[in-house]
Amino acid sequence: MSTQFKADLHTHSTFSDGTLSPKELVDLSVSQGFQGLSICDHDSIDSYAAAHEYAKKCGLKLIPGIEISCEMFGESVHILGYAYNPESSELKDFCRLHRERRAARNEAILQKLNEHGFELKTSDVVDPKAETITYGRPHIALAMVRKGYVKDIQEAFRKYIASGRPCYVAGERWKVEEAIDVIHRAQGLAVIAHPHLILRDKIVRELITKNFDGIEVFYCRFQADQCEYWRRIAQDKKWLRTGGSDFHGANKPDVTFGVSFVGQEDFDPIWNHFQYVIS
Ligand code: AMP
Ligand code: ZN
Ligand code: FE
Ligand code: FE
Repeated sequence: MSTQFKADLHTHSTFSDGTLSPKELVDLSVSQGFQGLSICDHDSIDSYAAAHEYAKKCGLKLIPGIEISCEMFGESVHILGYAYNPESSELKDFCRLHRERRAARNEAILQKLNEHGFELKTSDVVDPKAETITYGRPHIALAMVRKGYVKDIQEAFRKYIASGRPCYVAGERWKVEEAIDVIHRAQGLAVIAHPHLILRDKIVRELITKNFDGIEVFYCRFQADQCEYWRRIAQDKKWLRTGGSDFHGANKPDVTFGVSFVGQEDFDPIWNHFQYVIS
């Protein structure tokens, strides 16, 4: 097995819309020869508590992460938070409030789907026996698959619930500044997620004026030359470079764990920051 240091800093667990539990993500990282991992569930910081002792026992460096959905110029922008104090009550409250907003948004999406002839109730989407903490559109898509309304999650998004489709509801989202602020209050590092996916230059130009600590240079299946632009921005801004696969398990079957990752040089400053935060 390769001895090159690798850390996948963008994965999702069963606590949001991934299909592997936090401990299973630790096992997968170790089995793939990775030495570092971050689980960035949407609007939940609970995976760290669930997995950090186990990760330590396995010799894996686990960094607490989160992915926060924000809005800029009417479009969705994702922000990653890393290496924050996992006990931060401000960050926990922030997540709780957003999950309440998500519940209202999920209801609004279900109502639109009902108007389109799909019989779906909250109880079809929310499984009280599951360990899920954050419910979102992927869970609604899965409920549609279970009911036989669509063949897979992708079809549900493509036809009904992706942005611009008839049953999409944006919901109330954070401002970018609010997300950066709560991550900093929790002593964490605020990072622009997957800038490669932002379509409007105006948004990129505005985002890079904000008080970020890093940018996700290496993402998903983008090749090294597609990351060069973002690498240069990191260099100009003196920002940290992060990277990861955005692995969701079977909920995003085309994305393999670890297709993007960071090496030791990019990992160490984040890990060292975290050691300082928890010391
Ligand atoms: P939400 O946070 O509820 O808006 O849902 C966003 C999540 O849905 C993303 O993190 C992806 O996991 C997933 N997603 C977004 N677009 C698609 C798509 N076109 N097909 C499948 N999954 C998607
Ligand atoms: Zn997701
Ligand atoms: Fe994202
Ligand atoms: Fe993600």
